[in-house]
Amino acid sequence: MNSKKAHEKMQKLKKELLRYKYIMRGSMVERYHKCGKSNCVCHKDSSKQHGPYYYYTRKEKGKTIGKVYKEREAKIITPYLSNYNAVAEIVRKISEISERIIFDEITAKRKETRGGRNRPNKYK
Ligand SMILES: [Zn+2]
Repeated sequence: MNSKKAHEKMQKLKKELLRYKYIMRGSMVERYHKCGKSNCVCHKDSSKQHGPYYYYTRKEKGKTIGKVYKEREAKIITPYLSNYNAVAEIVRKISEISERIIFDEITAKRKETRGGRNRPNKYK
């Protein structure tokens, strides 16, 4: 990829980032469980467990924090969790292209400096 193409590709990726309205870290899992009443049907038949309950978790300074949400709330949150991964992937691509451009610029500058007429070259 030449420099012009690399810059174009990076601009395209940066524009893609604007597509994401909200970005949320963490994950949501759907769970069913038994209740506290030992005579409840959920204790005899695992297919009759209570739920679904939606557990949202994320890591905060090495600790996992969580919260339970209702289905309709989980439906609001879940797309924004997916957005986080999509944005992270775009940022990864941007950083790869950036790295290539920066290294190319450094290499070009070094060549320029080496070829400079007024600079004494003691290695001649
Ligand atoms: Zn029960």
